[in-house]
Order: sequence, then structure tokens, then C-alpha cells
Amino acid sequence: MGTVVDIAVAVVLIYAVLAILAGRPPLSGPAVAVFAVAEGTALWRAFTSGPGWLLWPAFAAAALWLANLVVGFTVMRRLRRTDPQVLREEVLRTATGAAPPQQLVLGVAPGGALMMQGVRPEGGAILAYGCPMCFVEEVVDTLVGPDAPVVAAYRRTLLGGTNRLFDLHRGVIDGRWHADLRPVRGPQRPYRPPYCPVHAS
Ligand SMILES: [Zn+2]
Repeated sequence: MGTVVDIAVAVVLIYAVLAILAGRPPLSGPAVAVFAVAEGTALWRAFTSGPGWLLWPAFAAAALWLANLVVGFTVMRRLRRTDPQVLREEVLRTATGAAPPQQLVLGVAPGGALMMQGVRPEGGAILAYGCPMCFVEEVVDTLVGPDAPVVAAYRRTLLGGTNRLFDLHRGVIDGRWHADLRPVRGPQRPYRPPYCPVHAS
């Protein structure tokens, strides 16, 4: 019985290591619970009657998971809390100013922070209030045109449980903004703001 438990725990921990390396660390409640139980069981077995080799996947998974968490917190601490109206004006000023960039990338991290490439050097911001998905949709609507199909596609993808980024780029000839969706590197889970009737579920 002990061998079966040892192998099962090792499989869960190796799966966790591979998931973290692939940018999908266990962060949701159930995934963290399974991960914690596997860690606890592996350590308990390794230090009592189980095989010592269980320490290797246990330490590797724990170290990677913690490193991932520290990197995430470090990035989040650099982001400034900003009033959405002020940030909206800042993004639109960047996009429509005298020397606009060729590309902007906008999206929402699983924790609710805005990811913005091409606007701020720190690469993002945290909204002081309001839904960050509604924010990026409004900005895209303003730049690309109202009722843009890409916004509808974004909502469908989020509802399907996969996060996406808006890849905004300007036409070479007309200089107008166009938008596509691009995959997110790292955790794919979309943010679910409980207070937003559009993006809560
Ligand atoms: Zn929303």
C-alpha cells in the first residue's frame, strides 16, 4: 500500500514540476490543496517509513512553486494603483499621440492586474476600482471601433476558461489600430471579478 501511495504522490509532484515549468503553477484552491496534500504526504513518507527519494520531487516542486510565487509578488509590487479614468486617458494618449507605438498589448492577469506592453515601463497597472476586463475592452473598442468582433471573441474565450491578450497594431499605410487575440504566456486561467455582471462567470 505504501508503494502505491509513494508512486501516486511522486506522480502528482512531478506533474506539478512540469506544470510550473510550463507556466501553469497550481494556484486555484483545489489545485493548491492537492499540491499541499502531495507535499505533506511525500515529506511524511520520506522522513518515516517511506523511501528517501521522495524528497527530490517534494523539494523540487516546493522550490519551483515558491520561486514562482516570489516572482509574481515582485512584479505585482512594481505595479502602480491607478484610477481607471486616468489610466484610460494615458493609454489613449499613448496610442493616438504625436508618436504612437506600432504595437500595444493589453490584457488581464489571473490575479486581476492589467498587463500593458507599450504604455508603462513596468508593464502593467492595478485599477483602483472597476473591472479590468471591461477596461481593456473599452480601450480596444475606442481604438479599433465600436462592437469590434475581436472583443466578442475575447469574451467567448474568457467564458471558455482561457485567458487571452489583445495584440493591437497599427496599419502600415493608414496608421489605424487593428486588434488580434494572442495566447498568454504563463497561467491561462482568466480573472473572474465577482462584481462584474459581464465577466464574473
Ligand atoms: Zn467586466
